[in-house]
Amino acid sequence: DTMPIRTLSDEVASRIAAGEVVERPASVVKELVENSLDAGASRVEVETQDGGATLIRVRDNGTGIPAAEIDLAFRRHATSKLENADDLEQIATLGFRGEALSSIAAVSRTLCITRHTAETVGTRLRLEGGEVVAHDPIGRPAGTELVIEDLFYSVPARRKFLRTARTERRHIDAFLTRYAIAYPHTAFTVVHDGREVLATSGSGDARDVLLSVYGADLGASLLQIPEHLTAGQAISVRGFVGPTTVHRADRSYLTLFVNGRWIEDLRLSYAIIQAYHTLLPVKRYPVAFVQIEVPAEDVDVNVHPAKAEVRFRDSDVVFRAVQKAARATVVSEAPVSTQWTSSESDSTGPQQTARGKLAGLRPAQGHIRFGADEAQSDEHSPAASTLSTASHSPPHPPSQLPPLRIVGQLATMFVITEGPDGLYLIDQHAAHERVLYEKLHAQSAQGQVASQPLLAPQSVTLPADQADRLEPLLPKLAELGLQVEAFGPNAFLVRAVPALLEKLVPADLLADIAAATEGTSPISDELEEAVIRHICKRAAVKAGQVLSREEMARLVDDLERTRNPRTCPHGRPTIVQISTEELARHFGRTGH
Ligand code: ADP
Ligand code: MG
Repeated sequence: DTMPIRTLSDEVASRIAAGEVVERPASVVKELVENSLDAGASRVEVETQDGGATLIRVRDNGTGIPAAEIDLAFRRHATSKLENADDLEQIATLGFRGEALSSIAAVSRTLCITRHTAETVGTRLRLEGGEVVAHDPIGRPAGTELVIEDLFYSVPARRKFLRTARTERRHIDAFLTRYAIAYPHTAFTVVHDGREVLATSGSGDARDVLLSVYGADLGASLLQIPEHLTAGQAISVRGFVGPTTVHRADRSYLTLFVNGRWIEDLRLSYAIIQAYHTLLPVKRYPVAFVQIEVPAEDVDVNVHPAKAEVRFRDSDVVFRAVQKAARATVVSEAPVSTQWTSSESDSTGPQQTARGKLAGLRPAQGHIRFGADEAQSDEHSPAASTLSTASHSPPHPPSQLPPLRIVGQLATMFVITEGPDGLYLIDQHAAHERVLYEKLHAQSAQGQVASQPLLAPQSVTLPADQADRLEPLLPKLAELGLQVEAFGPNAFLVRAVPALLEKLVPADLLADIAAATEGTSPISDELEEAVIRHICKRAAVKAGQVLSREEMARLVDDLERTRNPRTCPHGRPTIVQISTEELARHFGRTGH
């Protein structure tokens, strides 16, 4: 008893379409605000009740909808933004599918009040479940107001899936804050349950918006991508990236816009993350707000009903442009201070003592406790930060270290040194990794990594999948001084190691390399980088190794010569300072 094939009724079809476009209150807000921006609004006011479940109001001062077209606007596939299929190749507006208003109206009680700039009388249209129930002329200023009540009232299954009002508000804010930054010429206000949570001036200054969205600290710390980086090129990359001192536990602070449209693109996010390579701690992500402009015909935005993905004609070119712009901006970061703390940025721990001082605030009293475990994750979404301010430490000083006097070794883990401003603790493993990393890189860049033959070649057997991955890498390893030959099924013979690294244990290293290169594309730079980092990690002195005074002196000396002495290649701090002043304070000598 199968049913015959038939065309769906309009009502069913529009419910299905609505499901694609209108997933939750935030998607309604998105569609309505995009319409306002397409209508050239310089002011957009958003108001919600109960996370948008009972009320969403979006009011703009854009062009408005002509009285004769208002019915059409709520019809499916009705749009003023496309004329023919060719226009799909060159989409300059945020909307184009003509699906939003009809979809939203189908699943709510909708009120639309609008007046077109060229007309003297406006229209007031009321719809319930997509059916027009009232249609009257009305006076109002030019522009459009849409009021969406009881979202999903006609689709109880959907309504049940609405999350808490707070979660829905968070989604709405995440969207609106991004658009507020991307459209600084438009003044946005956002009111939830009668409380204003965001108001931007519309001054056109993106930095202004960043300050009100991200708070003074984070907003001021972001580095603007210089315009000259992409001036005169087909692809322009503008926006802001965080300094290396600012990082987050996840990617939610990476925001990408393409031709004025917020998009999600893993590959481009990765381009930004790559730009911070070795500059951030492991498992930490940068903050960035990047706006990419490409010729409209080089990007296809018609990939996804919610228009959140795009396809580029040449995604490699875009990838490189983004990575280059971000990297150039990050590395040009100007050093400003001779005081610094480890690079954890948003921990709420004791490091804020030092940071507070740097910010000219009175330091909080706290225990001295440092270390990577303080990298407390900051689970704020960008929107949550609207209402809180994220703290950050100031940018790093020039990478040179001050002259340091060796005091001794602590816990067979740290080298204690004294410098011009107090106590400097050096993590022996992290510091040595940094030293080896830069030496090996330098030698490899000149194509002359010194290789040290082993007295007795060592054989290493790997699991079959790892062996398969390692095999094609052997020529690359040879360039890095690691001479390895395939030697029977899944076995290898290590004949020589980089001379820098006599203490290397080849068996562990080969397994590491095979594991690390899993999933990395065999672009040689990326591969080389992964290999070098693993070599250095394996070869560096370990915690638990007793160091002689000479060894400590050599380590500190070598570290001073590196370009980036303050972090290991994985981004963890190599060195932590406690100022004399801070020590004095802990002893109650506050006058110092
Ligand atoms: P799309 O944006 O894809 O064209 P929508 O369903 O979102 O489709 O909107 C349908 C049409 O209604 C738009 O093409 C536009 O002409 C008109 N419209 C919708 N919202 C507004 C607004 N805020 N101001 C002016 N016109 C609007
Ligand atoms: Mg639209």
